[in-house]
Amino acid sequence: MRLDKFSKEQLTFGTPTPIQHLPRLSAALGNKVQIYAKREDCNSGLAFGGNKTRKLEYVIPEAISGGYDTLVSIGGVQSNQTRQVAAVAAKLGMKCVLVQENWVNYNDSVYDRVGNIELSRILGADVRLNEAGFDIGIRPSFEEAMQEIKAQGGKPYPIPAGCSEHKYGGLGFVAFAQEVMEQEKQLGFKFDYIVVCAVTGSTQAGMVVGFASDGRANKVIGIDASAKPEKTHAQILRIAQNTAELVELGREITAEDVILDTRFGGPEYGLPNEGTMEAIRLTARTEGMLTDPVYEGKSMDGLIQMVKKGEFPEGSKVLYAHLGGAPALSAYAGIFKQG
Ligand code: PLP
Repeated sequence: MRLDKFSKEQLTFGTPTPIQHLPRLSAALGNKVQIYAKREDCNSGLAFGGNKTRKLEYVIPEAISGGYDTLVSIGGVQSNQTRQVAAVAAKLGMKCVLVQENWVNYNDSVYDRVGNIELSRILGADVRLNEAGFDIGIRPSFEEAMQEIKAQGGKPYPIPAGCSEHKYGGLGFVAFAQEVMEQEKQLGFKFDYIVVCAVTGSTQAGMVVGFASDGRANKVIGIDASAKPEKTHAQILRIAQNTAELVELGREITAEDVILDTRFGGPEYGLPNEGTMEAIRLTARTEGMLTDPVYEGKSMDGLIQMVKKGEFPEGSKVLYAHLGGAPALSAYAGIFKQG
């Protein structure tokens, strides 16, 4: 497998993100499995970082070498992606245009003012609210922003939702898998399962390719948070196949390699269910670790339910990939009035 042939711009701290044992969460669930977290939520000093910052390390070199002057990206109003792109643009001295669509049916008077969108504005991005609903593909609003910048003489560099449709969008999490494998040597054991939240797909896709290199592709358990799992599964598979070719994995990625659990993503993208809320509280109250109602609370709920139902063999070591997302919490103040 060849990842080293791709250019990389260091945007994370550049050291392996910590893998932490979560003993009190493991104990609260009966100590049948031991739960660990790899803290991608603490991977960078750029506006709190998160999974997109790791992906952008392989996406941004082309924007720099091609002389682009404006990074353009898209997401929901409380997108973590757009906040991370805004921070990277600021750090590199580029302009940033963000299309923030109406992806979530949640009404809170502060929703479009606090959290991620507030941070993007502070970071100097040109934030454009748009009424279009949830979709993980390429959108007309995005194309329009690109055209407008070009018409004004700018050179816009497009970064699709979640970096996922970008040709190099999967590489960052191939690197993540390689990093885990190095850390496992020091820990003296291998994780039996890796649990990861999936929406636009390139995080899981990169992990599937990375862990396929030592036969663990199907030990990566994706927890769908899109509530449109067919589309997400197809996108993970397509990105994993493209990424496998790019890094010369040496074998095809097939549908059987992409495990996506569809039980925990409801009721819809961006809205938590009761399990999501319980998972957020339990994780916070046992480990002091914050997760959010859009993404990580759903994957944590999936992990917790699977442990409770005995779906992991007893004695398993399970790695939870914490991908970030907590900066959105203040936008959901209304659902945490009772804590
Ligand atoms: N977790 C967080 C905090 C995110 O911001 C995202 C972004 O969509 C995800 C998980 C899902 O990752 P992906 O879109 O690569 O599937």
